[in-house]
Amino acid sequence: RTLLAALPDQKPDPLLALIKKFASDDRPGKIDLGVGVYRNAEGKTPVMAAVKSAEHHLWETQDSKSYIGPEGDPTFVSLLAQEVFCDGMVTENLAGVQTPGGTAALRLSAEILAHDNDRSIWIGTPTWANHNAIFATVGLGIKTYRFFDPQTQAVRVDEMLSAFESAKCGDAILLHASCHNPTGAAISAEVWSAIAEIVARKGLIPLFDNAYQGLGRGFAQDVEGMHTVLKAADEAIVAVSCSKSFSLYRERTGAAFVLGNSATDVARGVANFAYHARASYSMPPAHGAAVVATVLADAGRRKLWIDELASMRSRIFEIRTELTNRLSAYMPQLAAVADQEGMFSLLPLTPENITHLREVHGIYMPDSGRVNLAGLRIEQVDQVSRAIGQLL
Ligand code: PLP
Repeated sequence: RTLLAALPDQKPDPLLALIKKFASDDRPGKIDLGVGVYRNAEGKTPVMAAVKSAEHHLWETQDSKSYIGPEGDPTFVSLLAQEVFCDGMVTENLAGVQTPGGTAALRLSAEILAHDNDRSIWIGTPTWANHNAIFATVGLGIKTYRFFDPQTQAVRVDEMLSAFESAKCGDAILLHASCHNPTGAAISAEVWSAIAEIVARKGLIPLFDNAYQGLGRGFAQDVEGMHTVLKAADEAIVAVSCSKSFSLYRERTGAAFVLGNSATDVARGVANFAYHARASYSMPPAHGAAVVATVLADAGRRKLWIDELASMRSRIFEIRTELTNRLSAYMPQLAAVADQEGMFSLLPLTPENITHLREVHGIYMPDSGRVNLAGLRIEQVDQVSRAIGQLL
C-alpha cells in the first residue's frame, strides 16, 4: 500500500496559475485584474504608514518572543472587538481568539459548527472559493443557494430568504459582512432586517465572514448589516481578517469571535477554538496582531490608519464609478456595478471572452469573470472598458 501514489490529484489554484501566466507575459501594457489584494495607483501593495509606525514602536519595545498560547494576544482580541462590534455588543457574552488570518478563523468556526453531525451550513453561490473547502474538510454538511446573477447583477433576495426559511433550527448560514467576494453585491438594510427576523424565528446560527471591513462604504457602515443580524441571533460566530483592512496579508492576522447567551457559554466556545488551534497550528503568529493592537491602542496611529483606509476605499470607488459609466453604455445591467462595494465585481463574461481578453489585450482575470478594480489605474479604465464592452 503506497502513500503518495494513492493520494488524489489536486488541481493547482487557478489564481496562482493566472499569476504565473501574467508574470511570463512580456507585453508592457498588460493588466492584472485577477489579483486578490489591494493595489494603489502605482500598482503597489504598500505597507500602511500606521503599520510601519507600529512596527517601529514594536522593534524598540518588544522584549520577548516567548509563547503566547493558542488564544493569542487578549489585548489584540479586545481592541479588535471594539472596532468590529457596536457598544452594546461588547459584553461578557462575547469572546474571541486571535487566529492566523481570516482563513483560520473560518476553520476554527467550521470545527465547532461540525461538532453537531446534524448541522448544515448554508452557503450562497458564488462565494469565495475556499469557503467550500474549509467547511467540507471538517465534514460539515454544505447546502447552497444561488446568491447572485452576473447577467442581471442582482442579488437573488427571494432565493436567499427562502433558503434560510427552509433551514433547520441550529443550521448555520454563512454571510459576508460587506464587500462580497467575488460579486461586490451589497445587501440592503431591509434585506438585512429580513435575514435577522428569519434567524431569530428559526433559531439559525449566522457565521459572518468579515474580511474587507473599511473597503466598502465606510469602516463603521461595513458592519451595520451584520450588527442587525447579530442583535437578533441567539448565538453567532464572526470570523475577522485583518489581511485587507491593515494590508497585513502575509502576517496572517485575524480573529474568531463567538456571541452567546452567557459568559460560561462563550468561554466554552473559546476553549473549543483553543483546542482546535492547539491540534493544528498550536498558536497564532504574534507579529501582525501586535501591529494591529499597537495601531488601535494609540489614537494618533489609529487615525492615520483610518485615513489611509479611507483613501484606499475612495480609490476603489473612483475606479468603480468610471468603469460603470463606460461599461453600462454597452450593457445597461452593468449600471448596478456602481452600487456594489469592495474590490471585486463579477462580470458576465464567458471563459472564451476571458481567454480573448488575455491573449489579445493582455487583460488578466480568472475564468469566473471576477475583476479586482484595485488592479486598475484610472488611465487604464477606458482601454479596459472598450476591450470588455466589445464582448458584451
Ligand atoms: N474571506 C474572504 C471572503 C476572503 O476573500 C479572504 C481572503 O481572500 C479570506 C476570508 C481570508 O483571508 P486571510 O488571508 O486573512 O486568511
